[in-house]
Amino acid sequence: MTQDAIRIEGLKKTYKGGKEALKGVDLTVPRGSVFGLLGPNGAGKSTLINILAGLVTKTAGKVTIWGWDQDVNPRQSRASIGVMPQELNLDPFFTPREALEVQAGLYGVPKAQRRSDEILEMVGLTDKAHAYARTLSGGMRRRLLLGKALVHAPNVLVLDEPTAGVDIELRQMLWHNVRKLNRDRGMTIILTTHYLEEAEEMCDEIAIINHGELVIRDSTENLLARLDAKTLVITPEEPLSGALPDMPGVTASTRPGGALAFAYHRSETSPGAILDHVRNAGITLRDVATEEPDLEDVFLALTHAE
Ligand code: ADP
Ligand code: MG
Repeated sequence: MTQDAIRIEGLKKTYKGGKEALKGVDLTVPRGSVFGLLGPNGAGKSTLINILAGLVTKTAGKVTIWGWDQDVNPRQSRASIGVMPQELNLDPFFTPREALEVQAGLYGVPKAQRRSDEILEMVGLTDKAHAYARTLSGGMRRRLLLGKALVHAPNVLVLDEPTAGVDIELRQMLWHNVRKLNRDRGMTIILTTHYLEEAEEMCDEIAIINHGELVIRDSTENLLARLDAKTLVITPEEPLSGALPDMPGVTASTRPGGALAFAYHRSETSPGAILDHVRNAGITLRDVATEEPDLEDVFLALTHAE
């Protein structure tokens, strides 16, 4: 029995009209992880997720969800996954409670096992249980879509850009729920985002795709460690009057507010050497901090490197 929540092999998708959205992607997602799928707009993230969800038919390749081959055991593979889509596609005539009941019916969840009220509570829609979907705000619709993805208690929950354009409160609610589902129920979570700091904070593992191809897949920790670049930020006691101290291999710049930023490579320069240099230039230090590279840097380094 495989320990992968998802196994994707040689996945290709060419849309009618000839657009190659996926060009042969191999990817595995371990059970129990919070997995981030990153990439710029048009990279192929939603195509991949909609194939997992059974909403888009693949052109070639093999998809296995919780050990079930999508083509051999479509029913079991579909029952193993719940997807919160990027688009807000809801039937305007159902109330949130009805929408959950209908969804549970579609997945064959027996009445006695349905948890519609519990799910409404969890996504913060209890007081809107009987309101028509067309009267719900964008944020409430998103909450309902999350609820719909959960009705059949799937092993894998997939969220396609759940926080794109949502307010802080909803974002926090979403992350709180995602963490809780992962921690308390061991649910495997896959999310796509182009907020890199979000993936960095939420995900154990990250895959980056671009132009329908996998660029990299690694633990968040390893991805960050791949980057050797660091920045030392020094706040001087007094505003700098003369030129910035110059040092080989170090790029110095001034930040708004007067802080001095020194970009360097760990493998070439030590922060101590930079500090010595700054003190020797007659600058008194009020504060010193270092900055690690974030995924934006990793992404740029990987996608621009030929
Ligand atoms: P992402 O979610 O990473 O932004 P998508 O998977 O939505 O990327 O899109 C990947 C590429 O496939 C894009 O070039 C997009 O325009 C194209 N595409 C997406 N859906 C369709 C479709 N239904 N028909 C034709 N082309 C599509
Ligand atoms: Mg998308």
